[in-house]
Amino acid sequence: MKRREFVTGALGAAATAAYFPTSRASSAPAELRAITRTRQETTLTRAEILELADSQTQALLTPNSPRYDAARRVWNGMWDSARPALIARCSYVEDVVNAVNFARTHDLLLAVRGGGHSISGKSVCDGGLVIDLSPMRSVIVDPLARTARVAGGCLLSDVDQETQEYGMIVPAGVVAHTGVGGLTLGGGIGVLMRKFGLTIDNLRAVEIVTADGEVRTASADENPDLFWAVRGGGGNFGVATSFTFNLNVFGPELLGCGLVYPLDQAQAVFDKYFEFTETMPSDMHGFAGMTLSDTRQPLVTVGYSWLGSSFSEGERHLEPLRKFGKPVMNVLRPVNFVRQQSQGDDHNEHGRVYYIKGRHVNDYDPEMTKLILERWKLAPGRFNTMRIVRFGGAVSEVASDATAWPHRDAMWDLEVGASWADQKYNDEYVRWGREYWDTLEPFIEESFYVNEIMDEDQSKVATSYESNYPRLVNIKNQYDPKNLFQLNANIKPNI
Ligand SMILES: Cc1cc2nc3c(=O)[nH]c(=O)nc-3n(C[C@H](O)[C@H](O)[C@H](O)COP(=O)(O)OP(=O)(O)OC[C@H]3O[C@@H](n4cnc5c(N)ncnc54)[C@H](O)[C@@H]3O)c2cc1C
Repeated sequence: MKRREFVTGALGAAATAAYFPTSRASSAPAELRAITRTRQETTLTRAEILELADSQTQALLTPNSPRYDAARRVWNGMWDSARPALIARCSYVEDVVNAVNFARTHDLLLAVRGGGHSISGKSVCDGGLVIDLSPMRSVIVDPLARTARVAGGCLLSDVDQETQEYGMIVPAGVVAHTGVGGLTLGGGIGVLMRKFGLTIDNLRAVEIVTADGEVRTASADENPDLFWAVRGGGGNFGVATSFTFNLNVFGPELLGCGLVYPLDQAQAVFDKYFEFTETMPSDMHGFAGMTLSDTRQPLVTVGYSWLGSSFSEGERHLEPLRKFGKPVMNVLRPVNFVRQQSQGDDHNEHGRVYYIKGRHVNDYDPEMTKLILERWKLAPGRFNTMRIVRFGGAVSEVASDATAWPHRDAMWDLEVGASWADQKYNDEYVRWGREYWDTLEPFIEESFYVNEIMDEDQSKVATSYESNYPRLVNIKNQYDPKNLFQLNANIKPNI
């Protein structure tokens, strides 16, 4: 992505607004039915709609706007029916401030959209206001200070591409079209985490618009409690308009090893994966999973990435793994990191319907693999997926209460789910997904990574933050006592 100047603050918004003097009055409806923060029906008058429209750099979208339908859709097609009353596409911090103030003053239900990848559809809502940060996509790298300032609506690809220009990186997730905003605020796990830590472990500061409309900086020196909370506490504390990350020297290549096995070797391959990854070096990332080939043959895939600078050392570690079993594909080669980050993009395309969850596994029991295999049934039009990733390394070197993200000792992250194109299967396949997870219950931990939440799990948010939850509630009480920011893995204020 080309670097653009990062214009923030009132001056930026006012200056740009001067170039868009068109009256928005003609497209504003006479009135709009909307939903409040407490889920009551309300009506917004034309004057009120214009008040928000006139405070925004870009045209405010209402259900009558030509671009409304495209703008309201998020990654997971399961939430396609959600119809917000208003969508404010914010380009500048001042747009965000005005939208937050409008939502608070009119007591509107408020959703905040970064990359739109919330699996549980939390970045869109029915009848409320959506603050859409997708116009805010600038990344500014300071190679001397080794920092990157990343605007709140960036995607992972924006950051990877820009930082790799300087031979540096922020560790983040594995699908390039995921949003930096939601991923970072929730924690951020990915290929580089065992070497460089979670995304939040590389966060230096956040610029955030809190519920009172103030623009605050949260860092180790300024508002340290808020800084602690946003590192894992999700979108509960405000709209993050930019993130400043510390950069790590890395790339452009890693050593990648890809192994593919037929399904009849699955049990042995998974047993081996769990045994090896329990003690593997921090310079190594590994996943094991199941997928379908282009001809719909179920396959077991195992991938290792060597993240150290000596590839020959990596080869030595990988050699015994490459000799295990009878893989039908066995590849070892240097891989361009940015290219690898996009490899999963097509399998995770926008607009399909997804039922996916992630849970932690701390003690591996081979019975779990047996169950996964039994229930991993093929169905017409349903693409099943399953993937397990090892935590540890640099992730575990941080204390569980040093940030809001408490899972520092978690061993593996298991993700199982499915996607399909035809909405008529929603009930059937969601039932399948829920039953699948019910059978895995004895093997998984009660607490989980909140960014892997699916439909029925809101009640478990408190237990997932473990002993960090009371402190999160106190900080929520301070910054968002009325729960304006509630469409997320919600930390409920108690005052
Ligand atoms: C295909 C896919 C791959 C994924 N891979 C990974 C992975 O490798 N590692 C990983 O850790 N997670 C991964 N996730 C989970 C991901 O971290 C979450 O879905 C995350 O919420 C996505 O962020 P987003 O900005 O795209 O989401 P959105 O849907 O825009 O937002 C999700 C939540 O974050 C809030 N939010 C987003 N941006 C901001 C902001 N700037 N300020 C305040 N609140 C904000 C929203 O209000 C909402 O509650 C993946 C998800 C998908 C769908």
